[in-house]
Amino acid sequence: MTEKNTSAPVHVRTRFAPSPTGFIHLGNIRSALYPWAFARATGGDFILRIEDTDLERSTQAAVDVILEGMSWLGMDPDEGPFYQMQRMDRYKEVLAQLQAAGHVYPCYTSMAELDALREAQMAAKEKPRYNGTWRPEPGKILPPVPAGVPPVLRFKNPQGGVVAWDDKVKGRIEIRNDELDDLVIARPDGTPTYNFCVVVDDIDMAITHVIRGDDHVNNTPRQINIFQALDKVPPIYAHLPTVLNEQGEKMSKRNGAKPVTQYRDEGYLPEAMVNYLARLGWSHGDDEIFSREQFLEWFNLDHLGRSAAQFDEAKLRWVNAQHLKAMDDEALAALVAPQLEKRGMAAADIADGRLPRICALFKDRCDTTVALADWAVVFYGDTVQAVQEERDKHVTPAAGPALAALAEALQEGAWDKAFIAAAIKQVLAAQGLKMPQLAMPVRVLVAGTAHTPSVDALLELMGREKVIARLKNR
Ligand code: GLU
Repeated sequence: MTEKNTSAPVHVRTRFAPSPTGFIHLGNIRSALYPWAFARATGGDFILRIEDTDLERSTQAAVDVILEGMSWLGMDPDEGPFYQMQRMDRYKEVLAQLQAAGHVYPCYTSMAELDALREAQMAAKEKPRYNGTWRPEPGKILPPVPAGVPPVLRFKNPQGGVVAWDDKVKGRIEIRNDELDDLVIARPDGTPTYNFCVVVDDIDMAITHVIRGDDHVNNTPRQINIFQALDKVPPIYAHLPTVLNEQGEKMSKRNGAKPVTQYRDEGYLPEAMVNYLARLGWSHGDDEIFSREQFLEWFNLDHLGRSAAQFDEAKLRWVNAQHLKAMDDEALAALVAPQLEKRGMAAADIADGRLPRICALFKDRCDTTVALADWAVVFYGDTVQAVQEERDKHVTPAAGPALAALAEALQEGAWDKAFIAAAIKQVLAAQGLKMPQLAMPVRVLVAGTAHTPSVDALLELMGREKVIARLKNR
């Protein structure tokens, strides 16, 4: 552990607090990556909290994608998942405390009155806001309480002065209290509202650092005021800039962002995703490719980017390819094997020991494990479908005798690369051909395409039986 870590003054506790109202995408999961990394880098704790109070829009399927995505990326929480819906009693308890301390008052202004107020304010070019009709003040006479109207509860925001914090990304932010109206913190049915629940949770979960998207900057001064009303010290905040999609718009499910788990299904490596996402808003000098361990060793809140980062799928593929190349062949084979089973190959066949070697032979030319599985299928499948154009171009009648001779020459002899290379040479000499005139049609017949690694390595891995059957299949 580095000095920075051991000298950390507080026991860091961070959280990721997604709302399961849509499938979590890369922009969202980046808001999990940094708090997770910060907790890991400092020996702290990382807490997962599912903010599921929007009953209409929250779904179990969205929760599942959050849990699966995080577990795939190895971002395991130390505590949680906690579900806000299961903490309602606790919120109500704190609400009662706040009310008893005089920080909350009932407001009977109806929706229709609020609408009329908003319209009048807009017409007068004023910022729409609650006008404080029901806010109790010493000496103020409140209107008569209307009969049978359940009130909302409003938070008595401090008047005058500023709310300020030193944001780890944005620097000092100061908001005048007079710009904040009295927030509704409980609905007429008594259920607490969003900002209040977040504060209660952040207090109860002893969160020291709130690292979240900057779409929450507007909530922060309100939350800080609630912390103070509860006599608690607010956490340190770091508001991360938005992640833009390739079109430069805010990344969202509505404009085509994929659920995180789809990248797993498309053959991306968790290591590569962590690497790519880490760079989407944070840097360590010019380092582009790094391991999870390096990231966790280097990560701190001092090098977070201030401007919006733009997603670039080609770059992600490139990062993935770098990790794939560097990965151990056995480990790669373990990722490719289940994909082959899904495609109908028998588990016993796949376990014949060739798969790590197939991965070794092809990983330089693949950028995903799906692409690697596409190659492996050629080795484990009964037949291979050659690209027609390549077949027409290379498997010509003129190549026929040489292909037949090679099939014959390969019948007997110790099956290794040297034997295969010698057989090819011998056929070339006998037929008066140059290497490509035989190697290209052999590749097309055996592997389905002329674009393969060295032909002797290819044939050796394919196995005698398949090679001979495919050479004859002209
Ligand atoms: N639930 C909020 C969201 O998904 C995050 C709240 C927070 O981090 O404070 O945007």
